[in-house]
Amino acid sequence: MIENQANDPSRTSWIPVPENSDFPIQNLPFGVFIPEDDIITTGTRIGDTAIDLSALQQLGYFKGIDLPDDVFLQDTLNDFIALGRPTWRRIRNRLAELFDENNMTLKANVAHQNQVLFPVDHVQMLMPVFVQDYTDFYSSIEHATNVGMMFRDPENALLPNWKHIPVGYHGRSSSIVISGVDLHRPKGQRMAPGADAPTFGPSVRMDFELEMAFVTGEGKPLGHRIKAEEADEYIFGMVVFNDWSARDIQKWEYVPLGPFLGKNFGSSMSPWVVTMDALAPFKVEGPQQDPPVLPYLETTGKNNYDIHLEVGLTPEGKTESVISRSNYKYMYWNQRQQLAHHTVNGCNINAGDMMASGTISGPTKDSYGSMLELSWAGKEPITLGTGDTRTFIEDGDTVTMRGWCTNGTTRIGFGEVRTRLLPAIED
Ligand code: CA
Repeated sequence: MIENQANDPSRTSWIPVPENSDFPIQNLPFGVFIPEDDIITTGTRIGDTAIDLSALQQLGYFKGIDLPDDVFLQDTLNDFIALGRPTWRRIRNRLAELFDENNMTLKANVAHQNQVLFPVDHVQMLMPVFVQDYTDFYSSIEHATNVGMMFRDPENALLPNWKHIPVGYHGRSSSIVISGVDLHRPKGQRMAPGADAPTFGPSVRMDFELEMAFVTGEGKPLGHRIKAEEADEYIFGMVVFNDWSARDIQKWEYVPLGPFLGKNFGSSMSPWVVTMDALAPFKVEGPQQDPPVLPYLETTGKNNYDIHLEVGLTPEGKTESVISRSNYKYMYWNQRQQLAHHTVNGCNINAGDMMASGTISGPTKDSYGSMLELSWAGKEPITLGTGDTRTFIEDGDTVTMRGWCTNGTTRIGFGEVRTRLLPAIED
């Protein structure tokens, strides 16, 4: 068992960290970037400095840690993730040591620093993982209740399975993009209320879904399950995730097999994967589960995380308004239950698979995680700080989601996932 030593709240770094930064030395997330005129590398970040892990390895700073020679000189984190939690921990522990205020090894070696450190605004972030499989859960009871009330029966908003199964579906992994990549409004079929035939055209109910996703480690062979009590060994880290949704397309197509073209045109994620180790100080207990879950889904103790979430909406050429403030701690089903359920039938998982939470709505109207809920299916437009009103997302709007944890001494954040919605492509 390798101790997690990288979370020491009293440690400071010789790399400057701006006040309220999401990336103090206690975070040490993992990402993939391309420095100006250089080659793609995997890296980490402290403050506003991106750190090249392949250069650190070549310069011998990971000596004593058993690593393949080229594990960081990759265009994804998958090979590193596949090495497992003891290695993730050894690397974070070494980084914490190396960038500690009191460690002169690299602090005093400017030549090496020039090969390793880059201002974040001089690097281009890339997709951090190759996502072989993407699963989207539906684990917020507030969200599932709201949607059930709108689309089905207010008296029986939750379907009979909801409190027994962490409901989910397999989504499309290759249309997941990172922050900064614009998306086009999708086109498709929809059935207008009261109409007797569907029409085709650009979605008129474009929506975001405020979610978080966890990235898995290398799983077990096909046929073997990951138990809830061992799930933490198989979860690498998390990102903020915007699961874009075209509500009109979704509503017409989703019976009987579930989400399809209303979802698969694009999902957006924040570029730095924050490890579960970095998030450990922010564990909290989840909601009471009633009725009790089946034994294979039982978990005890603190399995939720206190992660503040917010959504900003910026009309083209205008200023941002924060339209939702939620928290990951509201999740009814936790990650360990999600992973245990996903694999209980022997389904395999791969290093780098993405498992999204489902829309994370809180209990109050200002904490709802989608426009569908914020505008109550378009019936109650919201007013932005600019005076503009919205029921759904309009062309040129930018949606920005942020996530962070804080306990008064340490702030660990995810940065942001920012996406502009472009008009539908005309053809
Ligand atoms: Ca979703």
